[in-house]
Amino acid sequence: MNLILLGAPGAGKGTQGELISAKLGIPTISTGNMLREAMANGSELGKQVKKYMEEGSLVPDEVIMSIIAQRITEADCKNGFILDGVPRTLAQAEALDAKGIRIDHVVSLEVDDAAITQRMSGRRVCTKCGASYHIVNNPPKSEGICDLCGAEVAIRKDDEPETVLHRLEVYHASTEVLKSYYAGQGKLRLVCGNQPIEDAQQDILKAIGETV
Ligand code: AMP
Repeated sequence: MNLILLGAPGAGKGTQGELISAKLGIPTISTGNMLREAMANGSELGKQVKKYMEEGSLVPDEVIMSIIAQRITEADCKNGFILDGVPRTLAQAEALDAKGIRIDHVVSLEVDDAAITQRMSGRRVCTKCGASYHIVNNPPKSEGICDLCGAEVAIRKDDEPETVLHRLEVYHASTEVLKSYYAGQGKLRLVCGNQPIEDAQQDILKAIGETV
């Protein structure tokens, strides 16, 4: 099962990706998490993408495609994978197709901009493993500490209100078009992301033909 999770920043792709990953036993591949890790390690890749990430702009397609092409050849992807935050441009979607990477379903988590802006102010992420939390809707069991790896949970730099507005513009300008691209291939499944986490998860599983 090869899945793509589409949706605006903060629509719940990370949270839902982790849940589906645990349920189906396939990894979630988040380009955002991979790039943040590269920045934290101070690697060449990290230095190359820092500016884009901090201002909430898109990293060039070639950089993203080389990370993805390598990652999906790893052993844990042999039974499938969930792409979270990629593709984000038409060129990236076309590049996946050109590489012969089969995609079974594309789930778009639908949340309107007003709900996104409100939601982002409460979002927290693990500084080590990238797990997502929300101070009200989905808090870690112990405050400020990641349930999964025990590292510190913090506000993402690009979740500041001004950057969020820019990221939403980028989503509408460059990423939303992917809905019609995948609808044309008969793969698009729309799911309401503006509902409790568990309900959205059930809807996603139904949409991809998994038993709930
Ligand atoms: P995310 O964690 O998915 O919200 O991504 C955070 C940031 O990483 C984005 O604002 C971009 O700067 C960069 N990024 C992540 N995935 C991609 C992608 N597929 N294409 C371009 N930039 C990306």
